[in-house]
Amino acid sequence: MSNAPSLTARRILIVGGGFSGMSAAIQLRKLGAEVDLVEIDPGWRSYGAGISLGGATLRAFKTLGILDAFLEHGAASDGVKLCLPHGPQVGEVPTPRLVGPDVPGGGAIMRPVLASILAQATRASGTRVHLGCSFTHIRQDAEGVDVEFSDGRSGRYDLLIGADGLYSAVRSAVFPDAPSPAYSGQAVWRAVLPRPAEVNSACMWMGPRIKPGVNPVSSSEMYLFVTEPRPTKAHVDPATFAEQLRALLADFQDPLLQRLRAQIGPDSQIVYRPLEGLLLRGDWHRGRVVLIGDTVHATTPHLASGACIGIEDALVLAEEIGRTEHDGDLGASLAAFQRRRYERCRMVVENSARLGEIEIAGGDKEEHARIMRESLMALAQPI
Ligand SMILES: Cc1cc2nc3c(=O)[nH]c(=O)nc-3n(C[C@H](O)[C@H](O)[C@H](O)COP(=O)(O)OP(=O)(O)OC[C@H]3O[C@@H](n4cnc5c(N)ncnc54)[C@H](O)[C@@H]3O)c2cc1C
Repeated sequence: MSNAPSLTARRILIVGGGFSGMSAAIQLRKLGAEVDLVEIDPGWRSYGAGISLGGATLRAFKTLGILDAFLEHGAASDGVKLCLPHGPQVGEVPTPRLVGPDVPGGGAIMRPVLASILAQATRASGTRVHLGCSFTHIRQDAEGVDVEFSDGRSGRYDLLIGADGLYSAVRSAVFPDAPSPAYSGQAVWRAVLPRPAEVNSACMWMGPRIKPGVNPVSSSEMYLFVTEPRPTKAHVDPATFAEQLRALLADFQDPLLQRLRAQIGPDSQIVYRPLEGLLLRGDWHRGRVVLIGDTVHATTPHLASGACIGIEDALVLAEEIGRTEHDGDLGASLAAFQRRRYERCRMVVENSARLGEIEIAGGDKEEHARIMRESLMALAQPI
């Protein structure tokens, strides 16, 4: 390991091995920090169907060093087509090519495939990964953070990064005054299906209140997603998933959607999820503990940018920890990190929430398309 003399934190604990936590581990190891990562799931699994990604996410993949793996195992494409329920295309949201002229401006991949690419990169970075493990106590003083773990170990660190997602235990322990996640009034259904030849980029059908979409996730598969208004986040019986998803698509007469609908049956892999959001408007750091990703800015998926902003948090946090100008001052690094991140993350969370409100109300499709365009342009700015 290198000496890393200029880091404002050298011994670092990351709680949570999702996209944000793994990205932080990879970047901090590049600086020579000693990194422990604890992940509560013994199998380090990632659930769900496909995940859609914009140009800013692909740019972050390049910085992380996983862009080639994404291009090999996922699907990259340009633009998001907007269609009427019976099929005709009425517009397209452009997705600028941010990585370079040869790399499309967006794409999608199966969630477990992306998680496995990042997990391999995390292990290869030299991060010490502890699976099936979490913290039991966090105590900090001016010089360090003492942590006790669920497997009986303990450690002292310069910095603890909470990357344990929407229902973060680190947030509850260290930021007890933080808001709780709020249900948005919308739920999303997702299913992975064989990819028909004409599905070569993201496409969404603008129903009055229900919005289906498709995106290729590899050369042979695509995922279908459907958002719908739901007054509560009450449990839905999985035995009814196929029937309910088919019913949501019944009024969409586009022949492609009808063919996809016909493929949905009792054996289909369908994921149902009520959509929740959260934005921590106060400090994201307290002493030697900082929060990143969904712990502080969980967004509904309307801009397909939740993973993006969590991964970008990791890149920016590592940059600020390595910045010599902070002269060993961790507080200065953490404050600079939040200054660089807050406005961009607020924009994603609030604009995504507004898109959801428009969909729930059956509101103005022009406003919907404008917010999508403007948000993707804002995300194209450097971080
Ligand atoms: C339905 C849905 C669709 C979405 N679609 C998209 C999309 O298309 N594009 C996009 O960019 N984003 C999308 N998102 C958002 C994206 O999934 C999240 O923003 C992203 O996964 C956040 O990553 P994270 O690492 O911050 O948190 P998480 O993914 O939640 O990871 C947290 C990790 O911490 C672990 N953990 C939890 N508690 C503890 C603990 N106490 N101790 C140790 N470990 C713990 C968990 O097991 C997990 O591995 C979507 C979100 C939802 C809900």
